[in-house]
Amino acid sequence: MNKGILVVVSGFSGAGKGTLMKRLLEKYDNYALSISVTTRSPREGEQDGREYFFRSREEFEEWIEADRLIEYAEYVGNYYGTPKDYVQEQLKAGKDVILEIEIQGALKVKEKLPDTLLLFVSPPSAQELKRRLETRGTEAPELIQNRLRRAGEEAKGILGYDYLLINDDLETCTDVMHRVIQSEHYRMQRSREFAERIVEELKEL
Ligand code: 5GP
Repeated sequence: MNKGILVVVSGFSGAGKGTLMKRLLEKYDNYALSISVTTRSPREGEQDGREYFFRSREEFEEWIEADRLIEYAEYVGNYYGTPKDYVQEQLKAGKDVILEIEIQGALKVKEKLPDTLLLFVSPPSAQELKRRLETRGTEAPELIQNRLRRAGEEAKGILGYDYLLINDDLETCTDVMHRVIQSEHYRMQRSREFAERIVEELKEL
């Protein structure tokens, strides 16, 4: 049986990725969501070890030194990184592992592990993105401006992703994401072992 697929989900801050991931995990049981480590402060309602592992810059740098991260990047003044152990364990156990990370990290993962599937989630328009960031109310106005500026830079990179998902309706977007990931299991390049085995078997007939 195939082992799990590593899936990177990126999208502008405010694209609704968090809600989407939550729904995907509620609805389907073959996914594992990686928890990142970050130096940013927890938002209200966020818990250490649930949304993120919240760590100081010194501790984060220790994780880098000890090679405990698959990738890491700096985003609007803070470090964010993906712990290696959990991802490896879950992939081995056959789970499809989701990394919800920004674009620099996504490209690093793809370079290291070329079989990674890259998905980009966007709201239908820039205006809608701004509206969602403002109504979410988790960031101060100047931070929203920074996040929108960063979104402008990230938009230039979306053609490097494998699939684009427009998050207009949550249920539809969740189901499309599930179908895209599941189709990926059947891609020929993931079936080299099968192809080699059937060649051998046919020789013996
Ligand atoms: P937020 O502060 O809104 O939770 O996250 C800010 C950005 O950091 C989002 O685009 C999110 O996807 C990204 N991010 C979260 N965890 C990681 C990670 O482990 N690595 C990288 N490169 N980006 C991450």
